[in-house]
Amino acid sequence: MKIMVSACLAGENCKYNGGNNRNKKVEMLFDGNEIIPICPEVMGGLPTPRVPSEIVHGIATNKDGINVDREFRTGAETALKIAEREQPDLIVLQSRSPSCGVKQRYDGTFTGTLIDGSGVTAELLIRNGFRVVDVEDL
Ligand code: SF4
Repeated sequence: MKIMVSACLAGENCKYNGGNNRNKKVEMLFDGNEIIPICPEVMGGLPTPRVPSEIVHGIATNKDGINVDREFRTGAETALKIAEREQPDLIVLQSRSPSCGVKQRYDGTFTGTLIDGSGVTAELLIRNGFRVVDVEDL
């Protein structure tokens, strides 16, 4: 199978704090599958490390109040182009991220409060018919 994954789940240090979300279940997928890692926020032009962001009234905004929506949407569009080219059988994304979150994301108050809803990239991939799962549902 061809599987696209959030790069941080595959061990890339692309998280906002310079770390990763290495995941044992994702690592098990490395065996016998073609893995395509993507980090939409980095692909959109944001640096690592970076100030964390949330979706505030529909606009990706970092904790300093800077609008980073263009970077988020560029990253999502790039992820979609890769998915359209590669046609992955499955896409596994990191939970709760404002880009990659599939089922939940933070509510834009930077208080750690979760709401139902997807991140920018996950939403675009789902809307375009790709099979997207939250890593917690693997
Ligand atoms: S944008 Fe996605 S892949 Fe990149 S660090 Fe955040 S959760 Fe991981």
